[in-house]
Amino acid sequence: MPVQSHAMDRRKTRQISVGNDRTGVIRIGGDAEVSVQTMTSGSTCEIDSCVAEINRLAAAGADIVRVAVPKRADTEALPEILNQTRVPIVADVHFHFQRALEAVEAGVHKIRLNPGNIADGDQVNSVIDACSERGIPIRIGVNEGSIIERRDKKQRMEELGKFFADHRQGHLMALMITKLEEYLELFEARNFHDICISAKSMDARLAIDTYREISKRFDYPLHLGVTHAGPRETGAIRSIVALGTLLAQGVGDTLRISYASDPVFEVDDGLEMLWSLGLRERRGAELIACPTCGRIQVDLFRLVQDVRDKLAEHITVPMKVAVMGCVVNGPGEAEGADVAVFAGDRRGIIYVQGQRVANVPEEEILDRLLQECRAFQDRVNAGEARLGEKAVDILPPDPIGELGSGFDSIARGAVEQISVGKT
Ligand code: SF4
Repeated sequence: MPVQSHAMDRRKTRQISVGNDRTGVIRIGGDAEVSVQTMTSGSTCEIDSCVAEINRLAAAGADIVRVAVPKRADTEALPEILNQTRVPIVADVHFHFQRALEAVEAGVHKIRLNPGNIADGDQVNSVIDACSERGIPIRIGVNEGSIIERRDKKQRMEELGKFFADHRQGHLMALMITKLEEYLELFEARNFHDICISAKSMDARLAIDTYREISKRFDYPLHLGVTHAGPRETGAIRSIVALGTLLAQGVGDTLRISYASDPVFEVDDGLEMLWSLGLRERRGAELIACPTCGRIQVDLFRLVQDVRDKLAEHITVPMKVAVMGCVVNGPGEAEGADVAVFAGDRRGIIYVQGQRVANVPEEEILDRLLQECRAFQDRVNAGEARLGEKAVDILPPDPIGELGSGFDSIARGAVEQISVGKT
């Protein structure tokens, strides 16, 4: 279900549809929710591993999965891959227009072409006609790194270059927009509008500015991405800064976050970004955790990680779960959580919608918290409880008596014993 954030007016675009009754149809653009795409990292012609990877990515929440088809063996594998998967598949084509024709023939749900490396008009036309006959959309995917300056576009480049003269990378923006214009002329001359556009750069600021310019010039849906973003540790920041900025300004209809890492992280992080922006309805629990400080008396880093893994495994309703290191800021930070734990001296007190339900030693926190989350989920599913509705305000536990940080220990700055232990 699309979730509209009151802060964001989405740019109106045309709409394309990807997939069929078997895979489900994903709509991109118009009033459709922003979709998350990713791409397999294995070889497409190795059918079993390719199918396994696609199914794993779909299970993680990918709406659309792209596969590279550089070889004839890859397009030959497509019918069987399509037969064994249930998510729309895009064939990624570079250099060999024949691969696009073969992929269309195999029944793929969308084609991605790079104007930087199939420039022959007749070849592009043959792909357009094949897609047109089958009702298959095409993404025109310009990449900063693979566009080639063409002499016959020099004048337009100069015009646009002047337009972007005060931009530090104006010539690259001009080059990408010029290439798009050039390519779109071919498509529009054949009355083909089943198009999505991307213009990826490895520079976050250039990506933001280029997509913004493109969104003013064309009404086709936009596929957002930062290319060659690097490993997840740095790529996440670069991608999310660029894509989050654009989405917050209403620009962007589908996205792929690209990491030099397991593509399942691309799906995880793309979804988390859309949930955080209120552009998609959250699937599964939202975990809030304190950043920790010198007050923690349990192994909070491990607890948070374990809770995260267990919630991903067992919880499907979008409940808020808070894991707090102490009672100093915990109750305020956990405000609005459906299930919360406040840790003390090697123990934790658990609340469900503001109601205290348990006071357990550290080694039991994980199991008890999960038990309460599952019970709460059952009640939500049975219509007996509602998400985000507190029964009572959280009364902070007594840090000295209830959470075990004895008065003397606090005074000495040391904790030596657990003083209480009953609910
Ligand atoms: S909740 Fe407590 S332990 Fe966690 S950061 Fe805040 S003050 Fe520190």
